[in-house]
Amino acid sequence: MAFSALHPDAGRVDATLSDLGCGLAWDLVHKVRPRIALRCRECGHGVHAKVSPRGLRYFAHDPGRPADCAWLSESLEHHQLKLALATAVRETGWKAELEVTGPDGAWRADVLATSPDGSRRIAWEAQVSPITDDDIRYRTRRYEADDVEVCWVSPSWPPWIGIVPSIRVTEDAGEVAVIDSTADFYFKIGSWGMTRRLALVEFIRRVQDETVVFHEVLPRYRRIRVSATSSSRRRAIWASHASIDAEARHEGMRRRQEAWKQQQQEKAEARRKAEEQQREIEREAERARLQEQRAEQQRQWAIQAERERRRREEEERRRQAAEQVAERERLRQERIEADASLGWHAEISETRQHELRDKVTEYVWLRERTRTIFFVAAGPEAEYAFGTAVYVRNRLFGVLRPSPPSLHRLPRGVVVFALNAREAALLVGTGQVSAEQVVSFDFPDAEQLSLI
Ligand SMILES: [Zn+2]
Repeated sequence: MAFSALHPDAGRVDATLSDLGCGLAWDLVHKVRPRIALRCRECGHGVHAKVSPRGLRYFAHDPGRPADCAWLSESLEHHQLKLALATAVRETGWKAELEVTGPDGAWRADVLATSPDGSRRIAWEAQVSPITDDDIRYRTRRYEADDVEVCWVSPSWPPWIGIVPSIRVTEDAGEVAVIDSTADFYFKIGSWGMTRRLALVEFIRRVQDETVVFHEVLPRYRRIRVSATSSSRRRAIWASHASIDAEARHEGMRRRQEAWKQQQQEKAEARRKAEEQQREIEREAERARLQEQRAEQQRQWAIQAERERRRREEEERRRQAAEQVAERERLRQERIEADASLGWHAEISETRQHELRDKVTEYVWLRERTRTIFFVAAGPEAEYAFGTAVYVRNRLFGVLRPSPPSLHRLPRGVVVFALNAREAALLVGTGQVSAEQVVSFDFPDAEQLSLI
């Protein structure tokens, strides 16, 4: 079915217009005898005028129509939408032509609206069947190339809404209204809100007046509020200049706020960095101070250690010197005592010496009941005070005739044997041995050996 056809004399006839767009009455084409040779504008096959049960005027193909005529596939819904668009355009005072083909067939407008002064043309496309985004973009460009504005109209939920200039309409109680996508910008909430419902004729009027234009929504605002709880994404919508300005102002404000926030963050970051740097400087200074402190302590320890080393060295040197002095003194003393003992020993003969040993042996026998006795010969032995050591059972028991100046060398408690009482008194008289310690015999005084 179609709303237009070719009349053999009048040319293009439009069933939606009372004068068919060419000054002819409907009755002159509808049910007239003989039949008028009307032709399909698409395929050239014969068509005839018809009226639907609801009073809709249109043209239908005669029997034997070609199967590939594009208008065959157009549904009643499509046709009704086209008619609604044409009717709305005509209500605004603009001219509306149906099924208009562009130069070289570049496009075919369902409804081509033309302004009264003929300066503007807007194609209203009732797109009922599915079409890809690429196809609809391509077809939009074809219109634009011929300086024809276009708006695609769908009664369903097409995926291309907002991709090309487009609207979604609904019919309610005979009135067609736009429900998607004209929107208003609400500055306070910074969001677009979909216009619930706008009469198609009012929408067309605004598009023609350019009080609403197809507007590409700024990226931040593409979630369009549909109701208090729902929203829908749109890349572009129809909007008033005031709303577009409000969106731009809001975007400007948002950017200023973001810039300010960014600036604050940068300042805070700079402050944090400066503080961190200051802390690092302080830490560095503290490390240097501790290092210096340790170095100073080590220097002090080194100084102390050196002093201590010198002190010990000095002490050792003194100790060695003192030892040497003591050793020299000891040797000198020993020499003196050894010299002295020579005279002391010279006082008795070897015979007397043997007799004395016999007496000691007897003394030991009486006391210790042993004859295991051993004499260490008198000589320059300072250890026994230059006397003869008496060992009984391998223990130092006593000393025979120790030299008086050397008595201090005897171990305490050893028995000291003397020749007689006079010699015993002489030994005790030195104060180095006690009277109880001394055992004397009754030998006569030492011979004057020097006289022998
Ligand atoms: Zn046809």
